[in-house]
Amino acid sequence: MVLKRAITTALLTVLFTLALAQQSKLLLVGASSMQAVYPGGLGVSYAPAKGFARALGLAYWQKESRLILGLGPKRISYAVYAAPKTLSDLKKYVLSKTPPALVIDGRTLIPVRYTSKSLGASYVGGVDSLKVLLAPARVVAVRLYVLEGRDVVEITLNRDINVYPAGGGRWWLINAKASEGMRPTAGYYISGVRFEPGMYGTLLSIDGAESWPVMVAYAPHKVRFYIGETHAGPPKRSLIVIDPGHGGTDSGAIYGNIKEKDLVLKIALQTAHALRAAGYKVALTRTSDDDPGEEARASLAEKADVFLSLHIAGTNWAGPGPAVYTSTSYSSQMPLLVQRARKMYASGGYESFLTNYVKSAADVNSFAKTMIESFAKIGVTARRGENSIYLLERSPGAALLVELGSLENNTDRMRLTDSAQQSAFAQALASAVRIYMGSRQ
Ligand SMILES: [Zn+2]
Repeated sequence: MVLKRAITTALLTVLFTLALAQQSKLLLVGASSMQAVYPGGLGVSYAPAKGFARALGLAYWQKESRLILGLGPKRISYAVYAAPKTLSDLKKYVLSKTPPALVIDGRTLIPVRYTSKSLGASYVGGVDSLKVLLAPARVVAVRLYVLEGRDVVEITLNRDINVYPAGGGRWWLINAKASEGMRPTAGYYISGVRFEPGMYGTLLSIDGAESWPVMVAYAPHKVRFYIGETHAGPPKRSLIVIDPGHGGTDSGAIYGNIKEKDLVLKIALQTAHALRAAGYKVALTRTSDDDPGEEARASLAEKADVFLSLHIAGTNWAGPGPAVYTSTSYSSQMPLLVQRARKMYASGGYESFLTNYVKSAADVNSFAKTMIESFAKIGVTARRGENSIYLLERSPGAALLVELGSLENNTDRMRLTDSAQQSAFAQALASAVRIYMGSRQ
């Protein structure tokens, strides 16, 4: 259940939803203006999640029942609910300490005050309008040094920021200010860094970085750019991480007494078994009926050379059969951000900080293609898809989310609940991993 769409049919819901959205106020976020609404008239303002994130330059991930906003190493995570049908249920949600995101009229809205506070942004409520301001970040120090054969550009700021690749060895430091100018250095790969103001904040140019792999890593109030190739250490055994979705109280898609969480666990365990038998090192994000939580899953994803998240759809709208998803930012839009982040782990010995990088598109696309071919060999036609998926982006390896089919589709459901077919799925998944790993040697 990855692309679950709230389908509301009851007339009551429609009427209540109208009541929900009625009351609204002008909301200024950074330099953008939007409309804040007060669900149920409870005095808690909500704003469109995407617009809000864009206005402040936040990273944005949405996957089924979870929405995550990112600012540097910081993550704000929301449960996502369809707006409840009764005022008392709605009250429980919006007045809670960690209010969820609400889907109203097909749009995902986030609580403004809670979000602003979590970001360290100022929130000013007036009679006619609301204002959310994240003061521009200031660059307070720049350090250039060499670590394990790579150049490191370390930028310290007075708050967390996001960076975005601008191409040609340049990055936007979103909503940040720096004193203009050039800082020369004699690095292995680079000859200096330059700062200049621009429309998204400050444009950082790292001279010499354009033809080398660059990894961007965030730490609190810091961004580090690692440029160049690490000195090859002893080869480490590759790690395959398999992530059976959901678990515990989170059943995922349900059809009668058939639950997504149970089916994906069965298939994941068999896939792991097949890969271990073939000599691979395999870790699972869960091996029983419990939900380890998004961050525990992500911390394993961060160590993976190959990451496979397994799900089953609950709705039929995307079509029958499996779908093989990569995360959107894997596509060619950010080719300069890191091609070989995997090496960071291969050489080992780094402090553990949150990292953010983009996998080489060619690599993950070839894995997706191998996966689809592998399904074809067991007589199953799979589709290719893209979505912005947090867990996949946390993995430096070839990361896929595979939806094995839909519980709403009769053929899919019969296949997925048949133990011989479950084994066939596991074999297909394991075989795709083996072929992909083989092609990398
Ligand atoms: Zn799911």
